[in-house]
Amino acid sequence: MMEKRCVALISGGLDSTLAAKLMLEQGIEVQGLFLAMSWGCCEKEKAQACARELGIPLMVLSVGDAYLDVIRAPKYGYGSGMNPCIDCRIYMFRIAKRYMEEIDAGFVVTGEVLGQRPMSQMRRPLDIIEAESDLEGLLLRPLCAQLLEPTLPELLGVVDRNRLLRLAGRSRHEQMALAKASGIQEYATPAGGCLLTDERFAEKTRDLFAHEERPTTKDMELLTIGRHFRVGPKTKVILGRNELENVLLEGHAQAGYTCLRPKFPGPSALVAGEGTEAAEEIAVSLILRHTKEEKRPEGTMEFWRDGMSWTVSGPSLQNLLEPAAVPLASSKQLAASSHPFYRWPLAARSLPHDGVETGSYHD
Ligand code: SF4
Repeated sequence: MMEKRCVALISGGLDSTLAAKLMLEQGIEVQGLFLAMSWGCCEKEKAQACARELGIPLMVLSVGDAYLDVIRAPKYGYGSGMNPCIDCRIYMFRIAKRYMEEIDAGFVVTGEVLGQRPMSQMRRPLDIIEAESDLEGLLLRPLCAQLLEPTLPELLGVVDRNRLLRLAGRSRHEQMALAKASGIQEYATPAGGCLLTDERFAEKTRDLFAHEERPTTKDMELLTIGRHFRVGPKTKVILGRNELENVLLEGHAQAGYTCLRPKFPGPSALVAGEGTEAAEEIAVSLILRHTKEEKRPEGTMEFWRDGMSWTVSGPSLQNLLEPAAVPLASSKQLAASSHPFYRWPLAARSLPHDGVETGSYHD
């Protein structure tokens, strides 16, 4: 006897909301599950708003550091950027399966639509995802279920297949119409951006994997903030691009990080990795070079350094404004690295312009 209870993956988007709604309309108890990663395509706040509107509980879980192995070496490869969509879904659905077992639910529900996404929602990837997540027969996709083989809950009569849908393709018209008819208002705009599909973010991710043996989700979260400058094999300087990012960078300044905040209007800098004196000098230099000239104080400059007052003065100060005097790692050295991540076809590695790329700041 299968429980009339399911785990529904809620992304905050319209499709997963509609899928959960279809279950509720059949009198099935729905437990929402949101898997959090700050670089992914789903927003926690949107998912919470959707769950509230549906009147279902929502469990929020972090994907955990093991997820980074999925990005590092996906069995089914990458999409247009560094997005391993098939492996990413397998990873998430395995978590959903464990959660389903833990709460004695009968099956897992997702908002996938056949043919909607070129990489992960074509017929074959859908089958692979179901098989590899050990959910064979237990993964119900209510929006396109009538185009797929019946699942166990349908065969056992727990779910009425006739009340499921046969949506396919990339158009969202039918979903919009269904949302309107059901009075659903809370959902994120379709295809919200997964940063792994962005080439500049992908470049930063490759750089992280090339220099960190065991990167963490915290390292990945940092990639979403500020301008990144690789200043050594184990050291990066990250500059805030606005006040919010300055505050976020300060929040990351725990053990293993040094945070420099100027006492004049300018960006904060986080030294991540090996915090040498040379790296701090580079951080000061970068702060000064990203501060409007009229805002730079004359003479001694004051900073907060890990929350303590710190001053920089003397002849070295002027040198910090001269790029040639700063011992930055050469981008050519980095590009010549034998690490496999640098053998991939990459965009140019040098980056002395006002972007968010990772690389050496200056040759
Ligand atoms: S776009 Fe792909 S890699 Fe990114 S979160 Fe979605 S499924 Fe995962």
